[in-house]
Amino acid sequence: MSGRQESGAPPGARDLVAHHGQLRGQESAAPLLEVRDLVVHHGQLRALSGISLTVYPGEVYALIGANGAGKSTLLRTIAGLHHPTSGSISYDGKDVTRLRPERRAIAGIVMVPEGRRLFPSLSLEENLKVGGSFARTGPWDIARVYDLFPWMKERRTQKTAQMSGGEQQSVAIGRALVANPRVLLLDELSLGLAPVIVQRIYAMLPQVLASGITVLLVEQDVSQALRVATHLQCLLEGHTTLEGTPAEVTREQVEAAYFGVGAASPGGQSSQPPPENDWQGSNHGLG
Ligand code: ATP
Repeated sequence: MSGRQESGAPPGARDLVAHHGQLRGQESAAPLLEVRDLVVHHGQLRALSGISLTVYPGEVYALIGANGAGKSTLLRTIAGLHHPTSGSISYDGKDVTRLRPERRAIAGIVMVPEGRRLFPSLSLEENLKVGGSFARTGPWDIARVYDLFPWMKERRTQKTAQMSGGEQQSVAIGRALVANPRVLLLDELSLGLAPVIVQRIYAMLPQVLASGITVLLVEQDVSQALRVATHLQCLLEGHTTLEGTPAEVTREQVEAAYFGVGAASPGGQSSQPPPENDWQGSNHGLG
């Protein structure tokens, strides 16, 4: 899909992105990230079957889909943690398909992994320092992370193992920001967290975008994704079933694409039966 439209979106991250005026459909905008026909296997299992996506600077690009759709695999492959069987990843106009993960981090592709992956026996501040290991120079440092999450400063010596899930998630975001990403990959920020905590965590997004960072996120909670995304893509069993802006897609199309029932357009096709138990069992935010 091309040509972004804003309609009825709540104020926040999406308005800020529109204000930046760097989005798709504008002649001056070059893609920051381009994934082409990506195929990824985990052993015998084909987890991604020819996925393509294009992310422009300043976007909040959301990948949605049910459990096992391949969202995390896609994000981790972009970060360099899985090797694709075929296809390509280009970043800032350069092919990075074979680049090692740490080289990608230095180039500005930084991920907040699912499950946070903090060092529990280290303090909050020590965990933030880890983020500086492969850092680019840029606006973010530990002091700025404390400005973003003011509660952190007085608890900087506390071990992260003693922190709540939401606090740990914020530390993981802070650790990624200290690396000064150009594209920030966020894998399931809302996983296991109460909705009020999720809202608080996502409240950081306007400041992150204002600092020039582009965001590609995986979110199983579709309502949450629709609140923050400027563009979204739905995966199902390794295929793209829907792609477009939140303004372009209907709830019915999203449901069809998410569960694989009926036709889902624009930007994708859906004909598979729904994955078993998924409607009742997952935190999809569509119910
Ligand atoms: P979830 O929300 O459950 O994490 P997802 O959309 O992120 O789902 P993936 O985690 O990418 O999906 O998983 C896609 C498929 O690949 C699933 O069938 C999963 O079981 C499988 N898979 C993921 N990681 C591995 C791995 N390291 N080894 C083997 N299979 C894997």
